[in-house]
Amino acid sequence: MVDNLFREDLKDYESYKVEDKGCKVVLDANESFLNFPEELHEQLSQTVKDILYNRYPDAYSSKVCDLYLKYIKDFYKVNININNQNIIAGNGSDELIQMIISAFASEGDNIAIPVPNFSMYKLYGQIAGAVPVEIPLEDDFKTDVNKLSEKVNALNAKVLFISNPNNPTGTIIDDEDLIRIIEKCNCIVVIDEAYGEFYGKTFIDKIMNYDNLIVLKTCSKMGLAAIRLGFLLANNKIMEEIKKVKPPYNVNTVTQEIGALVLKHTDIIKGNINKITAEREYVINELKSINNIKLYPTYSNFVLIEIDNAEKIYNDLIKNGISVRYFGKGQLKNCLRITFGNRTENNSLISRLKENLNK
Ligand code: PMP
Repeated sequence: MVDNLFREDLKDYESYKVEDKGCKVVLDANESFLNFPEELHEQLSQTVKDILYNRYPDAYSSKVCDLYLKYIKDFYKVNININNQNIIAGNGSDELIQMIISAFASEGDNIAIPVPNFSMYKLYGQIAGAVPVEIPLEDDFKTDVNKLSEKVNALNAKVLFISNPNNPTGTIIDDEDLIRIIEKCNCIVVIDEAYGEFYGKTFIDKIMNYDNLIVLKTCSKMGLAAIRLGFLLANNKIMEEIKKVKPPYNVNTVTQEIGALVLKHTDIIKGNINKITAEREYVINELKSINNIKLYPTYSNFVLIEIDNAEKIYNDLIKNGISVRYFGKGQLKNCLRITFGNRTENNSLISRLKENLNK
């Protein structure tokens, strides 16, 4: 009887699967392979001890938002003249994606998603009863600005989601093209900079220049995936709409306090990002020496590779305790997405790939 109560429009909906393959080398989730240094861990423990567990969190996450703005100026060396009216924190940027969709897309409205792209845009779109429309990228995952903007406008889309650098391709759209997209598309343009730290550029300094721009950030990739903390930045008008759908107390106090403490240490974060990009350089050079691999350029903490028998190699890696991301369909049929790990993990991966492909 309860079946009658289920949503018809979610009948074919596929939930997001997080599978533990029991592998020792985990290179499938674009996490940082580095934890923070011991002295910071001690301060983190003290912070957790001092929390007033009987009280609700700060509903506006004010302290961590202020510190995040300082961190952005320091990390990206940009001049941003915005205050805490233009930033909100989320329980991961996932929650902020959901808020954007709830704020701007009603049932039946189109949401434009160039693909390949981060899968949660589509899933949250479906959950909201909106219509996610996938627009395939060009060859080598390039973006044709005119074609894309014409499509987006013809769809009368409410929101366009761009991850830059793109997950899962690792590629970027350059600044001029991004600006053209923001200017040409008659919708909210979300630039999701989840991997911005590995690219070194941000559009946060541009949020006040455009009435339709939202920038999304996350702390997950810089080594804070465990606490779930993301940020959304936009002009005041957009913010008013987002605030209408924001759940009260959406970011818990532990996350706010730990985030605030870590974000004071741009030097440590930067040091870790540099170690990850050094591994990127190492892995890319090694991959170049392996036969029959197409490498897509990466500005991220992972690389997308294309190989003839991706499924077979994926299974071999799993058998050897190494998990990478296999897609197995569409434009990514022959692709594997590999997150950079530490040197030992990277060497295990490279030696298995050499074993399989350099025959
Ligand atoms: N955007 C992109 C492009 C991502 O790849 C991810 C995580 N894989 C997210 C957003 C979500 O990040 P968070 O951990 O902050 O929810």
